[in-house]
Amino acid sequence: MTGHAAILTVDLGAIAANYARLRAEAAGAEVAGVVKADAYGLGVAEVAPCLWRAGARTFFVAHLSEGIGLRAVLAEARIGVLNGIAEDEVAPFREHRLTPVLNQLSEIDRWREAAGGSRQPAFIHIDTGMSRLGLDDGELAALAAQPGRLDGLDIQAYLSHLAVADEAENPLTAAQTARFADAVTALPAAALSLANSPGVFRAGVRPYDLVRPGSALYGVNPIPGRGNPMRQVVRLDAPILQVRTVPAGATVGYGATHAVTRESRIATLPVGYADGYMRCLSGTGTAMIGDHPAPIVGRVSMDLLTIDVTAIPEAALRPPAYATLIGPHRTVDDVAREAGTIGYEVLTGLGSRYKRIYLDGAVSSATAPRTTMHPWGS
Ligand SMILES: *Cc1c(COP(=O)(O)O)cnc(C)c1O
Repeated sequence: MTGHAAILTVDLGAIAANYARLRAEAAGAEVAGVVKADAYGLGVAEVAPCLWRAGARTFFVAHLSEGIGLRAVLAEARIGVLNGIAEDEVAPFREHRLTPVLNQLSEIDRWREAAGGSRQPAFIHIDTGMSRLGLDDGELAALAAQPGRLDGLDIQAYLSHLAVADEAENPLTAAQTARFADAVTALPAAALSLANSPGVFRAGVRPYDLVRPGSALYGVNPIPGRGNPMRQVVRLDAPILQVRTVPAGATVGYGATHAVTRESRIATLPVGYADGYMRCLSGTGTAMIGDHPAPIVGRVSMDLLTIDVTAIPEAALRPPAYATLIGPHRTVDDVAREAGTIGYEVLTGLGSRYKRIYLDGAVSSATAPRTTMHPWGS
């Protein structure tokens, strides 16, 4: 029973293919899976085992709570927690065998002291230009002067994070790369990790020992302005709830922001900003009905949005017809551009009211029948 819910289809086969693509690109480096924020909104309980089957053994989340959730799904994985370790979090980190990313000297001291003799695994984050998390120059100098502060830590890798790897011309990437190479020379030797998704594809960014892609696994284009090397992972199909004919001059939706200039047909879909389909897509977004584009008209409201289907043949609209808001002709990056944001925000915003379908790779969206009726709904 699909009913009046929109259907979010996540193609796990495409995620596995994207993992393999990143591995080929990363030239021998280990490829971690970044699965913070519920695997960028796609469902970590399904996505993480898929990545594990594809060969991933290291995962990153942002929060302790996410790490605990992931540990319940993957007993053997190495799980790094990017946001560091708070004073009252030492016990759960140990209990769930989570590896903190230590972002400041106080965290290094905390985790070393918790070790009490045993060697505690840790990632060490060095700030090279994000000015967000990680050891700054002063802390690095202090650490280089007192390397004993790292005693008792089993350093899994030094990592740093790139700010502009998606921008081909920006010189900050080269500056960060040089700062990272320089910073680690003063520290005890360990593995190194620098690249996020765009970094994996950026000439001049060394893959080192471990790369940390997130968005590219989920189909976001890591090299904006060039063809997307990743497979699309997500599609969002919404059933048409109603189609109405409105006379010339009628207005559509809250604020009466859209007035039709001729008799028009308006279709209503059960997707709104509470589902992560942003209100700023009012008047700019596009749905696809088969091969026909249908512009979003009027305001996107909490639970509903409206599209103009005047130009679309009647037969394509008959129930159970679906409009595709994200799909082969309407990528996550397209929606992001129309919303004035990035694919990451579109993915992580995807709501909890969709009926979610996970394709395990046996059926891929590329080979599924092209129809305005949703091929997996029933
Ligand atoms: C989120 C994050 C990543 C993954 O970035 P993508 O651009 O999604 O590949 C990697 N490293 C760190 C430190 C992050 O916070």
